[in-house]
Amino acid sequence: MSKPSPATSSTEPERLEVRRLREIIAHNSDWIWEVDREGRYTFCSEHSRHLLGYAPEQVLGRTPFDFMPADEAARVGALFAGIIAEQRPFSGLINRNLRADGRLLMLETSGVPLFDEQGALSGYRGIDRDVTPAIGPLDRREVQLEALYAAASVALGLVDRQGNLVNVNNALAQLLGGSVTALVGQTLGSLISPQQLDVVHCLGCLERGETLADQVLDWQGRNYLLAVKAARDLDGQLLGMTLAMSDITEHCQMRQALAASNAQLALANAQLRELAEQDALTGLPNRRRFDEVLQRALAAMAGDDSLSLLMVDVDHFKAYNDCYGHQRGDECLRLLARLFREVLRRPNDTVCRYGGEEFAIILEHTGCVDAAQIAERLCARVVAEHIEHRGVALGRVTLSIGVASARRAGQDVLYLADQALYRAKESGRNGYCLS
Ligand code: GH3
Ligand code: MG
Ligand code: MG
Repeated sequence: MSKPSPATSSTEPERLEVRRLREIIAHNSDWIWEVDREGRYTFCSEHSRHLLGYAPEQVLGRTPFDFMPADEAARVGALFAGIIAEQRPFSGLINRNLRADGRLLMLETSGVPLFDEQGALSGYRGIDRDVTPAIGPLDRREVQLEALYAAASVALGLVDRQGNLVNVNNALAQLLGGSVTALVGQTLGSLISPQQLDVVHCLGCLERGETLADQVLDWQGRNYLLAVKAARDLDGQLLGMTLAMSDITEHCQMRQALAASNAQLALANAQLRELAEQDALTGLPNRRRFDEVLQRALAAMAGDDSLSLLMVDVDHFKAYNDCYGHQRGDECLRLLARLFREVLRRPNDTVCRYGGEEFAIILEHTGCVDAAQIAERLCARVVAEHIEHRGVALGRVTLSIGVASARRAGQDVLYLADQALYRAKESGRNGYCLS
């Protein structure tokens, strides 16, 4: 009926006790284990199947660090070294583990040291408790994030500290011209030139805690906004860097088009302004421009600087129109404008059509003596041109000029020049008068 009992002298109540303890251990919601001095599992309760996804026989002989990501193994290993050195109990040690199915598992580990008969440390015995749910439904979140990541229209990727792609989403795979699986493991530097993205430099900056400014990357005829950020693990250790590339080609094109039309608009405005300040008949600056130039020139005067103004009026021009018609009158005004410009070539001389058959000439940095000489030259030049005028005794077109000079702003040089012109007319025309 019953199996023969072992060769020990255990009693029936003792066997019952052992069975009871075994069942408690097997069905405990905590995982119970023992490790030897080297940290290798020497006992592993059934709960490892549930917790880690490994059967006890797959766990035995391995160490806790075999179930952790490398960086976590390094972190926890350092902690354990301290605990073992002091041969002390420990509790509540949170650590990250990888299940057999690849999912992340957070465990809370507690243990007590074991000693042999000589009192030397022979290992540890302890329990592990799953604390993953305490920080949220990680698995579902991971799935959701993975779905968002895969479907994002922004090209996303993760590069490790060695510059290798460890993760790319579909958009980045398409952009780099490969499949997700083919790209993972490749060095980013072999896919993008250092001129476009200097991977080593970027990693160096992030290593030093610097942030990288977003940059515009031209890639296969399109423009991308590239953001490179540090990827750090829970302890703040740099894992590598994340890449995010958004296609901004249309945006760039719109910006370029806008800049081009702004430039055109500025040009049109400048042309319009010029037209608004130009006399249509002679092409000279008009009265409006004259006012501006005179004001600016007067305001800019300093020290013993002086400015002269010539008010030029064509003599008996009404009679000219009467003799030859308005059209010939216009031609005469155009010719006079050309002659004035020929005589006055300095950049500081501004010849304007003041209105009708009157011209105003601003001579910056010019005193009355030089201005009088210029007035004389203008009169002589027009006489020399022999523009026929049957309506006057001299038989040709002549000018009368009023000359005034100012040595400081505020002097009404325009009024003075006008007065001088009046006197030039009074004194018989074809000549100038100095204010
Ligand atoms: P004065 O010697 O006293 O200056 O005599 P004037 O005839 O020149 O002076 P007035 O002011 O009596 O006449 C100016 C004439 O200039 C009258 C006007 O028909 C003519 N005029 C003004 N603007 C223009 C223009 O744009 N084209 C033409 N053809 N004639 C003009
Ligand atoms: Mg006049
Ligand atoms: Mg006149």
